[in-house]
Amino acid sequence: MALLQISEPGMAPAPHQRRLAVGIDLGTTNSLVAAVRSSVPEVLADEEGRVLLPSAVRYRSNGYPNIGHAALAERANDPANTVVSVKRFMGRALADVQRLYGELPYDFVDADGMVQLRTVAGIKSPVEVSAEILATLRQRAEGSLGDDIVGAVITVPAYFDDAQRQATKDAARLAGLTVLRLLNEPTAAAIAYGLDNGSEGLYAIYDLGGGTFDISILRLSKGVFEVLATGGDTALGGDDFDARLATLALERLQLGELTEQEQAGLLTAAREAKEQLSTQEHTSLSFNAKGKLQTLEIHRLELVKATEDLVKRTLTAARKALRDAGLSVDEIKGTVLVGGATRMPHVRAAVAEFFGKPPLINLDPDQVVALGAAIQANLLAGNRNPGDDWLLLDVIPLSLGVETMGGLVEKIIPRNSTIPVARAQEFTTFKDGQTALAVHVVQGERELVSDCRSLARFELHGIPPMVAGAARIRVTYQVDADGLLSVAAREMISGVEASIMVKPSYGLGDNDISRMLQDSFQSAEQDMKARALREQQVEAKRMVEATTAALVADKALLSADESNRIECLLHEVEQKKESTDHHAIKDAIDALSRGTEEFAARRMDRSVRQALKGKKLDEIT
Ligand code: ADP
Ligand code: MG
Repeated sequence: MALLQISEPGMAPAPHQRRLAVGIDLGTTNSLVAAVRSSVPEVLADEEGRVLLPSAVRYRSNGYPNIGHAALAERANDPANTVVSVKRFMGRALADVQRLYGELPYDFVDADGMVQLRTVAGIKSPVEVSAEILATLRQRAEGSLGDDIVGAVITVPAYFDDAQRQATKDAARLAGLTVLRLLNEPTAAAIAYGLDNGSEGLYAIYDLGGGTFDISILRLSKGVFEVLATGGDTALGGDDFDARLATLALERLQLGELTEQEQAGLLTAAREAKEQLSTQEHTSLSFNAKGKLQTLEIHRLELVKATEDLVKRTLTAARKALRDAGLSVDEIKGTVLVGGATRMPHVRAAVAEFFGKPPLINLDPDQVVALGAAIQANLLAGNRNPGDDWLLLDVIPLSLGVETMGGLVEKIIPRNSTIPVARAQEFTTFKDGQTALAVHVVQGERELVSDCRSLARFELHGIPPMVAGAARIRVTYQVDADGLLSVAAREMISGVEASIMVKPSYGLGDNDISRMLQDSFQSAEQDMKARALREQQVEAKRMVEATTAALVADKALLSADESNRIECLLHEVEQKKESTDHHAIKDAIDALSRGTEEFAARRMDRSVRQALKGKKLDEIT
């Protein structure tokens, strides 16, 4: 998040001079570089005319790594030194990588902050591996543009956290690139389509890449690109389709366990077969195992059947993103397909059926992100044409709330709110004479503080002593255009204020975010029960304190009988207040509340009389 404000004033170049800037899609599986030439964005090819650079680096003992296709060609023979999908490791600690991706053929080294890999060429950080890919793209760009480039816009998934974004920036620096800006991938896709087609309205960006699925709902209007919602699955992509084909092959051929090398060879063959099945009805899948070449004929329908559930999972995520944006499917004017895996006809058909219209495919799904990044880079480099002036709005990925009594979360800014945003809510004091209030800022979807992430705490002091419930404390949350949160609390009667700056996304990874969302989904019912219980417990405690205080102060207003009856009811609430049955607590509270109505009325009468004592009628009205 925090990718806003596209246009930067005061950067117009001298008319004779065009500053070359490129857009780079640094993908998990494939990377591309694009540039705007003669006002048209285009992807740049290597010497052999290929535009996709596989995001693979094979380290060798001679110090000269193979990059891209050359690395993939040797992958099956040298899996431990051939680093693929390094994007998954960016900004990640070893424990996260192991938890998220399980067995991998690399010799990982546990380094401070980010995992590293031991290779024949020494220990490498994911930043260095990514830098090899970026440097290759930079050389390609300089070769085809015939000049040095002033900078690059590099795209990242919308959910990349600060550590992952920082790692991407570091890699660019290492590759000798100046980062003009990091840009969210779906936004880049929208830019590519928005400018080319002049489209207005609501659009869904459906991005099925090699390892991840991202869905974003954008509103395009009068040059404004507004991200209304984002969602997806960080562990679902074309690789899973390959794995399904590989499993199918193993079952069919009854080969038993494969060696690491054989397994890698099988996966490569499965991917090729899958890609061929996008244009052919059937194909053969061949790989080396058990000392000979194994071959299997596969029909497209077999792939469709083996992966139906994967496609369904993408649509479930799409449905959820729509719900978050408060939209129904038929409000979506168009769907943009991004990612190589959207070439599969059954994926396209499922997307078309879900959205009730065929998706937009006039731009190449592999290239659309890089093209949007190039358009953006061209603008940032100062090559702006009249009318090129847009603003981007982003969203917060998780709700921001405040802790209230009983460890409950009151959501102040709901998830997927567009930023910048400011929301305020009023709270009050719990106890008579309370002069300070602790504000605990949390992020997450769950109802209990203990299930959310704590962002910051601060205190508001100097509240003038008042009876419980009389103070009016307005808590304001403000998220600025860069995604920075500031929280302020102000007691409205006295004007006492306190505030704090918080960085909401810090340290929260995309997987943390999707896990937290999933948790909230699964635990909604359980949370509601927990919330009801906590609320009743808090109310019971408040009633006991208030009634006890009133009895001490004004027992004289009650007969002995009356005060006995109230004490009985009070005792009942005290007994029940730690119970886990919220209905039982509520019944006791209701009984006490009914039983003290008359007492409360007498106290009220008396204080009104006291307040009015000695005053003339015209002073009161
Ligand atoms: P990423 O964004 O992860 O770098 P890409 O957008 O490059 O990924 O998508 C890579 C995925 O697309 C791989 O799983 C690849 O096999 C798949 N893919 C590429 N071309 C095709 C095709 N013609 N049919 C099916 N899948 C394809
Ligand atoms: Mg991609």
